[in-house]
Amino acid sequence: MIKTSGLPKLEKRVAHDLSIISYPVNEWIPPKFDEQGQRILDVLVVGGGQGGLTIAFQLLRERVQNIRVIDAAEAGQEGPWLNYARMPTLRSPKEVNGPDLNIPSLAFQAWYEAQFGKLSWKKLNKIPTELWVNYLKWFRKVLSLPVQNKMKMIAFEPSKGNIKVEIKCLKTGDVKEEITRKLILATGIETPGRWSAPPISQKIPKDFWFHTSEKIDFDLFENKDVAVLGAGASAMDNAVMALEAKASEVTVYCRRSELQRVQPFKWLSFPGFLRHFSELKDEWRWKFMSYLLTLREAFPKETWDRANRFKEFNIQTGAGWEDLRLNDERVAISTKKGTFEADFLIFGTGFSIDLTHSEELSPHAHLIALWSDKFKETRKEGEESNLQSYPYLGDGFQFLEKLPGSAIWLKNVHLFSFGATMSFGPSGASINAMKFAVPKLVNAITRDLFLEDIDHHFESMSSYNLPEFSLPGEKTELAPATTDFYGKKVGSK
Ligand SMILES: Cc1cc2nc3c(=O)[nH]c(=O)nc-3n(C[C@H](O)[C@H](O)[C@H](O)COP(=O)(O)OP(=O)(O)OC[C@H]3O[C@@H](n4cnc5c(N)ncnc54)[C@H](O)[C@@H]3O)c2cc1C
Repeated sequence: MIKTSGLPKLEKRVAHDLSIISYPVNEWIPPKFDEQGQRILDVLVVGGGQGGLTIAFQLLRERVQNIRVIDAAEAGQEGPWLNYARMPTLRSPKEVNGPDLNIPSLAFQAWYEAQFGKLSWKKLNKIPTELWVNYLKWFRKVLSLPVQNKMKMIAFEPSKGNIKVEIKCLKTGDVKEEITRKLILATGIETPGRWSAPPISQKIPKDFWFHTSEKIDFDLFENKDVAVLGAGASAMDNAVMALEAKASEVTVYCRRSELQRVQPFKWLSFPGFLRHFSELKDEWRWKFMSYLLTLREAFPKETWDRANRFKEFNIQTGAGWEDLRLNDERVAISTKKGTFEADFLIFGTGFSIDLTHSEELSPHAHLIALWSDKFKETRKEGEESNLQSYPYLGDGFQFLEKLPGSAIWLKNVHLFSFGATMSFGPSGASINAMKFAVPKLVNAITRDLFLEDIDHHFESMSSYNLPEFSLPGEKTELAPATTDFYGKKVGSK
């Protein structure tokens, strides 16, 4: 791959594109102060992964400028990509555009072509994961997004119509409070919940098993038998890593009698579904999601091909794990198909949405409406899913109260993660849905901020008296010049 230095040119194009569409430009949100005279944030975004960055970008475009983005991770280490996303390329097709919000010069393809050329893009199959991370770093830099790393939100609570957030600086250990009008949780795919292994995992010492979301030392697996539970994309990526680490045998087990080779999320990638799912009646949303969310995400062909390069790779379908026992440093795995053995286990069993498992949300979990509160479904016999545990979100991704009137402040806490899926379909934690979902979220933020300040806006309009031009001999302040996305004056009035 030949690398050229086309980025400075592209960055000029970005600046130009943004200046073309930057109208209207005026800052419009009145500053608010707390009792100590500190400026209250308009929006605090927790999470500086692709979701948090894109939300910040859209907020700035809407001139919501008094914002802050925090992330607990080191800069560049946000999200799963360099941690436990054990795949050389993204699973999505390379054409998927997301964070750019339909501005071509900000798209991955533009960034890629600027460095490696158009021919290289043509030849590229899928986006290398490492390049996706580099693209996100560039996106953050070129847009000057206000992200602070090593800052962890540890708690939040209502405070006089706003939200008080406790933020721990992971470098110094200092904890500071920040008051914000709006809080957006872009905290990652598994939130609000956690990565989960089934209860039988507790039957064997932790040294013998891992979850795909953990840091794993794959060198441990050399000349060992590894058993992987689950045949979703992450389970398969981990199986391949174990094979590449020279495991003597890697067997993937799944409960279903056949591997899932169909990717239902491919079917739903169309504007009607991605933009309007949230407008469906609950019955329809439940019907669609109880189909989609009870299926595993199929792994891509590339992963299948990677695994099949190894003769040490096996699959056992119709062989969910029923029991585990440790026998002489080997794990015995009971399944319907008989008992198997392995030296190490990897659970590729995904995550479960559960507000009580979220450190920051659990104190408020009893107040937050879930699907189980709002929709009394008929559950199919044997259906395994936790759809009822998903939060039932309002039209702007905000939490709703379980009991009307009990926690009205929740309307200022918005969730942009996989937890939004029951209410919005693919939205948070999904590249392909980003261009539909982020504007929807930000529209709700601007709506709420505008409506809340309506007295101020009327007052401001009534007292607005800046003339467009001065009369001869008159020295008076004129209506302000416009500025571009970066706040630079562009001269016209
Ligand atoms: C293994 C894997 C592979 C995937 N592959 C694809 C793919 O190919 N295509 C696709 O469309 N989607 C994919 N996804 C889904 C999705 O795109 C990713 O999960 C993506 O990272 C979601 O972006 P995000 O910004 O919502 O969350 P993340 O990227 O996870 O970012 C969340 C950030 O929030 C921070 N955070 C969390 N809690 C706090 C806190 N309390 N205080 C401060 N910071 C906090 C974390 O440090 C993290 O950096 C994949 C997901 C996984 C797990």
